[in-house]
Amino acid sequence: MIRTFESPAAYVQGRNATDQLGERVAALAESALVIGDSDVLEIVGDDAEASLEGNGVETAIEEFGRESSEVEIDRITEMAEDLGAEAIIGAGGGKALDTAKAVRENAGGAMISMPTIASTDAPTSSLSVIYSEDGEFERYWFYDDHPDLVLADTSVIVGAPARFFRSGISDAMATWFEADAVHRANGENFFGDGPTHAAHRLSKLCYELLRDHGASAVEAVEAGIVTESVEAVTEANTLLSGLGFENGGIAAAHSVHNGLTQLEATHHATHGEKVNFGIITQLVLEGRDDAFIDDVIDFSVELDLPVTLEELGVEEQSTGDLDRVAEAALADEETIHNAFDVTADDVRDAMVAADDLGGKRV
Ligand SMILES: [Zn+2]
Repeated sequence: MIRTFESPAAYVQGRNATDQLGERVAALAESALVIGDSDVLEIVGDDAEASLEGNGVETAIEEFGRESSEVEIDRITEMAEDLGAEAIIGAGGGKALDTAKAVRENAGGAMISMPTIASTDAPTSSLSVIYSEDGEFERYWFYDDHPDLVLADTSVIVGAPARFFRSGISDAMATWFEADAVHRANGENFFGDGPTHAAHRLSKLCYELLRDHGASAVEAVEAGIVTESVEAVTEANTLLSGLGFENGGIAAAHSVHNGLTQLEATHHATHGEKVNFGIITQLVLEGRDDAFIDDVIDFSVELDLPVTLEELGVEEQSTGDLDRVAEAALADEETIHNAFDVTADDVRDAMVAADDLGGKRV
């Protein structure tokens, strides 16, 4: 079996890390196009521009249209080409970063991720999620190249709503349970190869940091302050979760998430919130003992993360709805097959059991 490990070329994290942007980009490019939505540009636009221009990088800034859609990608690609920008810098959440990755794929040059929230795996990965203009999921776009630089400014990240940070913790917890399931089942990572021991261990470290620092980090973000716990959890949510999911592979928790998107009622819940319920469902499918599952549930409750379907917005669960979720979670292309040999009945019953276990502890 061939094993692979791929990653961004550099990762920089810390308070006021934006100050380092110019110096780092100057080593890669003489000109740059920065994209972000209006809120994000208001927060980081001036600092990013000052750092870039101060280091001799000719800089243009463009407001991003909020969807990583074909139309928006084409528009910004054309702009990058007209400007002759040698680097594209995406600032913001997953969609801005995914758009910047797609523009780099089209226009060439360097790509820099500047996540302003610690809630997704987008900053480090070599793929984009493409949506329609109306925000409906269309497809994944996989690239040969990873970002040249990921720069996470924790003084910006603590300014975002804590809900994003907490959601990122769920997504990062899933990284460990899914990479571990793939490891045990000899499944594949995101590159279609075998996972390395490094990927497995980094995923475990990710989980350990979350368990050790999660609660205090969330409190700090709620207070808008940067602490060592915030640094630890930002690293887990951004770097380790990103490296872990691509290189370690994902399994049932994300398939259950994808299945849950079938239910209109869950649409107000974030990616990470739905993933959190997916984690508990996966642990039930694995046949983990009661104390183990209760421990994960208690940690989730402590962080105000959903552990029941009701908390995700599903007021009344019907067997028909849950069957629909289970069928979707088992679609051919789903990652659950990476580590589990289960039927739709197994998945539905695991969700019911997860919901019961969660309901007892909220
Ligand atoms: Zn995820």
